[in-house]
Amino acid sequence: MSKKNKGGNKTAGPKARWQKKVAGKEKLELFFRHLENLEIDLSDNELTVESYPPTQAYEHMEFEQTLSRVFDLEDEDCVPLKRAVEDLVAAIQDAMMEVPTDYMPNRCDRCYHADCCHMGRIHLSEEERIRIIEHLGEPDNEETYDRYFEADDDIAGFYKTMFKHVKPDEPKDEDDTQCVFLRKMFNGHMGCSIYEVRPKVCRDYGAAYCDEFSVLTPEADGD
Ligand code: SF4
Ligand code: SF4
Repeated sequence: MSKKNKGGNKTAGPKARWQKKVAGKEKLELFFRHLENLEIDLSDNELTVESYPPTQAYEHMEFEQTLSRVFDLEDEDCVPLKRAVEDLVAAIQDAMMEVPTDYMPNRCDRCYHADCCHMGRIHLSEEERIRIIEHLGEPDNEETYDRYFEADDDIAGFYKTMFKHVKPDEPKDEDDTQCVFLRKMFNGHMGCSIYEVRPKVCRDYGAAYCDEFSVLTPEADGD
């Protein structure tokens, strides 16, 4: 069990802190309660909001559709909105870089399931894909591609390829899939079979970001 569940003193996560910030601010509370989709595209200076209609404001009507509006952040009427969006993006970035309170540097060494390798849409660059193919000693053709990879665009449209996902031997539920390169190792733990050439996203992700609650082997002294 991770340390997060032991002391009961876990600090509030970003969502809880955000809820605390808007508590009592009626308009904001209403906005978040009805928010269905919020897209921020700072490269195009655009903000798109979709929300469920606040039915208490329109008790006599029934809505099936969501409300949708696109804001042009370059518009001079949108200057305060743009500032608020920039603050929001900065707050999200800070929250994402926050080290979890249950951080254990050696956790990955003691992790049985490697749940991070079950996450969907793990992208890699073309250089990383070729490095993996060369490492495997397989030809760079369609058959090899279909065995290990799938085509996809990430949100920013930078990556074109992601790892293929397959059913694990012991799925946790019917939707559970894992990276095609995840294998059971000699010690019974799940591990990466292309560890030396795994892509940057896998190298960068580790115990500092892990919120995956994998089952760990018992703690050794000094962990
Ligand atoms: S990041 Fe988390 S889930 Fe992934 S191997 Fe490390 S402890 Fe396990
Ligand atoms: S390449 Fe290795 S580390 Fe990355 S998701 Fe697949 S099994 Fe996990």
